[in-house]
Parts: sequence; C-alpha cells; structure tokens
Amino acid sequence: PPILELRDISFGYEKNQQVLDKLNLCIHKGEMVCIAGRNGAGKSTVSKLICGFYKPSSGSIRMHGRDIAQDTIKERAERIGFVMQNPNHMISKTLLYDEVALGLRLRGCPEELVRERVHQVLKVCGLYVFRSWPISALSYGQKKRVTIASILVLEPEVIILDEPTAAQDYRHYNEMMEFLLTLRGQGMTVIMITHDMHLMLEYADRAIVLADGVKLADDSPERILTNTDVVKKANLKETSLFA
Ligand code: ADP
Ligand code: MG
Ligand code: MG
Repeated sequence: PPILELRDISFGYEKNQQVLDKLNLCIHKGEMVCIAGRNGAGKSTVSKLICGFYKPSSGSIRMHGRDIAQDTIKERAERIGFVMQNPNHMISKTLLYDEVALGLRLRGCPEELVRERVHQVLKVCGLYVFRSWPISALSYGQKKRVTIASILVLEPEVIILDEPTAAQDYRHYNEMMEFLLTLRGQGMTVIMITHDMHLMLEYADRAIVLADGVKLADDSPERILTNTDVVKKANLKETSLFA
C-alpha cells in the first residue's frame, strides 16, 4: 500500500463550508511530490488533516494501509514531520542550536549524537555559523530554515514542507534541496506545497494540483507545466526565490 493515502476526504472549518470535497490522493514511499494550487485551494488544510490538527468530516487517511484516525497529533508527528508555512512564531531567545536539538533531547538521544546530527543539519541548512545566536535575531528566511532543520534532525518517514522556497536565497535553497534529495534517496518521502514551477520541474517526481478542494491534475511536472489551463488555475509562478 502507499505510504499515505487520502480517501474521499471532505472537510470544512465552519458549518456548510466545503474546503475539501471528497479528495483522493496517494503518496508512495520515497516519492518527492509537489502539491500546488492557488491561494485558498486547500493545500495547507490537507497537511493539517494529515498531521491530525483537524479531523475530516468524512473519508479516511491511511498510512501504510492503516487508518490513522485514532492516532494523536504526537503519534503522527513521530513519523510525519510538518514544516509550517509561516515561521513568525519564532520569537524566543532560545539559542538556535538548542532549538534544533530540542526534539532529539526529548527523545532521550545521547548528547554526543545530538551534537553530530544538529551540526550536520545546520550545515546543510546554511545555519551553522548562527548556531549560538538567539532565534529572535534571525531573518524570516533563516527562521524558516530553522523550522526545516528542527524537523530534519528527527529523520521523519515523511516530511511535509509548506512553501519551503518562499523567501529563500538561491544558494541556501539549492543546498537544502540537495540534502532533501539525499534523504529521499535513503527512503524518506517528501511532500512540498509550492507555487514554484522551478522547484516542481527540477525536483519533483509528480505534482498534484488542487482547485476548490478537488484534484485538478495529478501528473508529471513536465506535463503539468505544459498545460496552460492548469498552470493558470493553479497560479503557478516562475519562482519565489530571491535573486
Ligand atoms: P492554501 O494553503 O491552499 O492557500 P488553505 O488550506 O490555507 O489554502 O485554505 C483553504 C480554505 O480554507 C480557504 O478558503 C481559507 O480561507 C479557509 N481556511 C483556512 N484556515 C481556516 C481557518 N482556520 N478557519 C476558517 N477557514 C479557514
Ligand atoms: Mg495560502
Ligand atoms: Mg497554505
């Protein structure tokens, strides 16, 4: 069975609101998949349902074929790492190193191993030189990379990145993507929510396009990006990177 499967998922935040309408999608182990769609299409909602922040009004979410409806947010987080869209909550004076080490320490990982893993991830995320800075002193793009690093050190089976390339410069973006590719090569499954055509074409095995809570397209990035109707409806952009 697929590593993740959504079967006939419907959901609304409020009564009579249909954000997702009988949505079906399948993600296979080791895939790097993009989920695209214009603002409000329901992309973030999909990830929040997968992670258990909200419950679907109908349908099921399966992991390796097993319905995970009864699994808590915490249980899901052990296997599915979620990098949220917006890092603006990162205003603490905690040092960057301690922030990224937190998850491993909570798992009781020995300090030596914590140090090794955190240093490796900080390097690939272009954050190593800031390791003794307080989080609050970092830029928006750096904070976003801190949220990614905090998830990556935990080596989740599946990582969902909501708009990973927004506000990133080209060098850090490339380094991070190369590292994600390495982890993917080791069996990690990567789901990226994005408007970024370059990201999709360069890195994704497949792209799923959402529009008004239903699946508009599910195809290779090449075929998606040559379909002008889909590109328009999904509001795909040339790139969201800084020069
Ligand atoms: P996307 O990530 O594709 O931009 P979202 O999943 O964030 O879209 O939102 C899908 C729809 O659900 C939008 O119409 C949005 O206004 C609505 N929505 C999102 N979050 C909430 C919320 N917490 N309460 C009510 N409506 C929401
Ligand atoms: Mg949005
Ligand atoms: Mg969103």
